Amino acid sequence: MERQRPVALVTGASRGIGRGVALALGGAGYDVVVNYVRDADAAGKVSASLAELGVRGHVSRADISVAADRERLVADVYDTFGRLDLLVNNAGVGPKVRADILEASEESFDHMIGVNLRGPYFLTQLVANRMVVRDRSGVPAPKIVIISSISAYTASANRGDYCVAKAGLAMTAKLFAARLAGHGINVYEIRPGIIETDMTGPVRDRYDDLIHNKGLTPIARWGVPEDVGRAVVAVATDLLPFSTGQVIDVDGGFHLRTL
Ligand code: NAP
Repeated sequence: MERQRPVALVTGASRGIGRGVALALGGAGYDVVVNYVRDADAAGKVSASLAELGVRGHVSRADISVAADRERLVADVYDTFGRLDLLVNNAGVGPKVRADILEASEESFDHMIGVNLRGPYFLTQLVANRMVVRDRSGVPAPKIVIISSISAYTASANRGDYCVAKAGLAMTAKLFAARLAGHGINVYEIRPGIIETDMTGPVRDRYDDLIHNKGLTPIARWGVPEDVGRAVVAVATDLLPFSTGQVIDVDGGFHLRTL
């Protein structure tokens, strides 16, 4: 019997933004592959929450920076569901230490590039190759989302490696958008601003001050994972069919220049 529900793969869906995206997609009727790398408990909880929404949350562990893991992950998606409607490249890490660009290590650079750029770049390649032969799986309009960051264009000299990886990710979205348009596959870059998650926990006080007292963002509040989830649902539910390679800022207006 042919499956009715669309399927999304969300990398790094155990916590933070990925969790918010997975639950928003579940609310929109998607079955979700909940990828994680370390926190199996958190991934299991997301899966349970998806079940409460009446959809399936299939947990799949894979380190997206490792080629063999990426291959196993994609094989698991198609073995389990037989189709993939949406890939959301969300998994990412910040540098272990925020180090001045005059001192930061090559090890940290390689780590940032491996997880935040090479991982999603080649996962997208792998998935794109499956999506272009979708005629057999019956997916009407497959899509790919890349979660980048305001760091794609904002120079933070205390985490240059992260910024360089995110800038590369922005070009990755453009490249795949250009290559895949002829196959009916739209690609979107979603650029979150400052979002309340474990990643921003260590700098909470500083960002609190910048947001609430220093006017950092025209919309003076922290972003929440649900903000990003809603943007992904807009894409997933075909509200932007004539846009591809589009950057969607989910940043409270951070990107505006004001005078
Ligand atoms: P987070 O709370 O630290 O969560 C990171 C998620 O990624 C977790 O689910 C983690 O899995 C997973 N992950 C980490 N390394 C992985 C790997 N090698 N393979 C597979 N999964 C991996 O981070 P977040 O704040 O939600 O950030 C999510 C994405 O948004 C990142 O790409 C980040 O750069 C971007 N972003 C965040 C902000 C922000 O303000 N928070 C702003 C702009 C962009 P485990 O639970 O198993 O560790």
